Amino acid sequence: MSEQNTYPEGCLFVVATPIGNLGDMPARAREALALADVIAAEDTRHSGVLLKHLGLSKPLVSLHEHNEQQVLPGLIKRLQAGERVALISDAGTPLISDPGYLLVCAARDAGLELRTLPGPCAAIAALAVAGLPSDRFVFEGFLPNKASARKRRLAELLPETRSLLLYESSHRIADTVADIASVMGGERRLCLARELTKLHEQSLRASATEMQAWLAADDNRRRGEFVLVLEGAPAAVAGDTYPVTLDEILRELVRVMSPAQAAKVATRLTGAPRNKVYERALALHPGP
Ligand code: SAM
Repeated sequence: MSEQNTYPEGCLFVVATPIGNLGDMPARAREALALADVIAAEDTRHSGVLLKHLGLSKPLVSLHEHNEQQVLPGLIKRLQAGERVALISDAGTPLISDPGYLLVCAARDAGLELRTLPGPCAAIAALAVAGLPSDRFVFEGFLPNKASARKRRLAELLPETRSLLLYESSHRIADTVADIASVMGGERRLCLARELTKLHEQSLRASATEMQAWLAADDNRRRGEFVLVLEGAPAAVAGDTYPVTLDEILRELVRVMSPAQAAKVATRLTGAPRNKVYERALALHPGP
């Protein structure tokens, strides 16, 4: 295929960039950036460093979660005028817990050409070394920041049989692993992948209880960027014939969340009437 077809005019390039090691910049991704008339970047200062490393100097347009809607029309106009626009994020693949979805949709809606320039993605990089089932998996991104909402989300994910991929920051990694142990059980296995491709890369697979102890043993282990890969629930727990009663589900949930939150989760899991579930949640709540 000629370069013209690979990188046509008026085309949006969605370009993956390294997640920590500049040596991981794919050759075709660099080529697309070199051909682009303008680069839409999440943090233009941060991306300036990458471009300098690549020996490129390009006009940059800032595109982040708070301004994506506003900068869209200008970028679509440039594409329609025949310019090549590249989209990058601070690290990894755009749109994966990163901005770009609105721009890609708008380009599709406008009937424009798009090209994907694949490369690093922290979730996939972690899954590749997790040693947990990788044939079927679910990307969940970041769990909610607030403890109550995080536990509720984990409770909703309890019956999921596929491996779960989560992103987490250094501020919350210990709390999130503790919540996984309390909501999903200390035996649930997970892989913690930290600082992938960087100097202090570490990944280990352990039970949730063991992982809590590992994190608590050394402050340095809670530094940096994290991906968690959680083993899915055993199929027997997740099948259509759920082998527990409403009370059994609620008894577990009210240990770690309010009756109202427990009722919300149990209603979603069982389909039982909300009022009835809430009444039982109140009755089973152990109190303050
Ligand atoms: N779009 C990116 C991708 O494709 O991986 C993800 C962007 S998201 C805003 C940033 C999160 O990804 C971090 O908080 C961390 O959970 C994860 N992450 C990014 N780089 C990482 C790395 N080198 N090691 C471990 N996790 C990483």
